[in-house]
Amino acid sequence: MRIGIIGTGVAGSLLAEGLEGFDVTAFERVAPGDQAEAGTGLNIGPNALKALRLHRPARHAALRAASLPWQRWFVDLTDGTRLFDLDLAEVAEEPGVRIRWSELYRLLRAPVAGCTRNGHALEALEQDAAGRLVPVFRTADGLARHGGFDLLVGADGRYSRLRALAAGEPPATLLGACIWRLLVSDAADCPYDDYGQWFQGNARLLSFRLPGGAVYIAGTFPLPPEGQIPEAMKTEAAQRALFTPPDAPPCPAVAWMLDRIAAHLPEIHWARSATVPVLRHALAGRALFLGDAAQAMVPTLGQGATQAVECAVVAARVLRTGGDAAAVAAARDARVDFVRAFSLAASDTLLPPTDVVAGTRAKRQPDFMAKLRRLYTDAG
Ligand SMILES: Cc1cc2nc3c(=O)[nH]c(=O)nc-3n(C[C@H](O)[C@H](O)[C@H](O)COP(=O)(O)OP(=O)(O)OC[C@H]3O[C@@H](n4cnc5c(N)ncnc54)[C@H](O)[C@@H]3O)c2cc1C
Repeated sequence: MRIGIIGTGVAGSLLAEGLEGFDVTAFERVAPGDQAEAGTGLNIGPNALKALRLHRPARHAALRAASLPWQRWFVDLTDGTRLFDLDLAEVAEEPGVRIRWSELYRLLRAPVAGCTRNGHALEALEQDAAGRLVPVFRTADGLARHGGFDLLVGADGRYSRLRALAAGEPPATLLGACIWRLLVSDAADCPYDDYGQWFQGNARLLSFRLPGGAVYIAGTFPLPPEGQIPEAMKTEAAQRALFTPPDAPPCPAVAWMLDRIAAHLPEIHWARSATVPVLRHALAGRALFLGDAAQAMVPTLGQGATQAVECAVVAARVLRTGGDAAAVAAARDARVDFVRAFSLAASDTLLPPTDVVAGTRAKRQPDFMAKLRRLYTDAG
């Protein structure tokens, strides 16, 4: 069986590695070594680490070596009042990781460089006489075709071209929040380390240290469901007003972040959080979708890349043993439905009228903890 993979991000790289020995070609629109579009950092959940430990131990070791452990999750108000403090060992079998995007892509793409054609952006889809899908790529030299594939895997992310070509553009549902992100490189004086969140009303800062003395900061604030991000919100004054407590000075962590926001404002990447319906396969099983191409979800529990890892590990196992796209759906979709619903429910404190103090304290109750344990341990 000839398999083509579109995109060597998280899911595509890991799938290509998992299918070593099969007739696999991966196509990636960026040039080799170009991680430029991956400017910030992320946390990857313990469930992805478990899946890698069980099924791709070399990648697990590489990820651990290039990252810091994610062992703790605390939630404060912006004045420093603590609402929630969790040692991940309570709900997981091993820590997650904190890593730079560029490092993650570098170490996932390296093992599959030999079967990857870079500078290939999927543009169109044709069919050969045998009914196999023929992807058409835009390259620096014009359009390129590399023959027919029995299975094409869309691992090309949130705006999947393969999904759009095979099944139409998916409808997006907006969460009603702006999410921005920033990587601060000169962060030696950062007053915190592991994963923290700081709320002011429903606006939230999220931050943690990364390897190499860097710090990742993400800000979230409510937006009208159909609204654009107002330019007036992209200013230092607006962000200070959002995250400064009305009756007290900000705690040292928030004061530090506000200064970094002011110093790095032009580098901030602004986005709106959206989900699309799950689609695992199309074109009678000849197109299979993994990661964000199949299941883009809200970022609240840090499960987007984490689920892309699970997708790749499970899909590789199913395909290696002769399974098809429907078998991948059977192995993945119930799990993905649970993770998406849980991530959405956990987003309550980002949106009015949820009371942040009550909503955050509820996350320390047995029901939420049981779901978190299921999320972090039921993998692979
Ligand atoms: C603000 C923000 C914060 C996030 N934080 C976290 C976090 O902390 N933890 C977490 O787990 N997830 C996080 N995510 C989600 C995470 O970014 C995605 O879920 C994850 O990258 C999905 O992996 P993927 O392999 O499906 O796609 P990607 O990693 O996006 O890879 C897609 C690949 O396809 C390539 N490609 C795209 N189009 C084409 C084309 N036409 N032809 C060829 N190649 C193409 C791209 O260049 C890329 O290499 C966050 C997302 C956002 C927006």
